Amino acid sequence: MKSKTTAGLLALFLGGLGMHKFYLGKWVQGLIYLVFCWTFVPAVIAFFEAIFLFIKSDAEFQAAYGDSSYIMTPSGLVHATADSHVKCPDCRELVIKDARKCRHCGCVLIPQ
Ligand SMILES: [Zn+2]
Repeated sequence: MKSKTTAGLLALFLGGLGMHKFYLGKWVQGLIYLVFCWTFVPAVIAFFEAIFLFIKSDAEFQAAYGDSSYIMTPSGLVHATADSHVKCPDCRELVIKDARKCRHCGCVLIPQ
């Protein structure tokens, strides 16, 4: 599981080289940062990204960059397991097992 603190610190200290992007699995963006690191533009952008990473809640961070089996619900971050969640047959997103409607694509689900 990726850590918000690690990502934030990487963005703050090595952000100009795109290290936080590599850490977050955004390889293409990381390479762009690396190629343009001599302009110091990536360093400036990364500084602001570090601030955004630090003010993000852990739940928001996990939902955006973390393990895809963690999903945001109105009551907070939920670890989806085979017991509680199923994959939507239409969009392959995780939905609560007894849901009648996919919250991602809106397709009708038959509870199992
Ligand atoms: Zn769906």
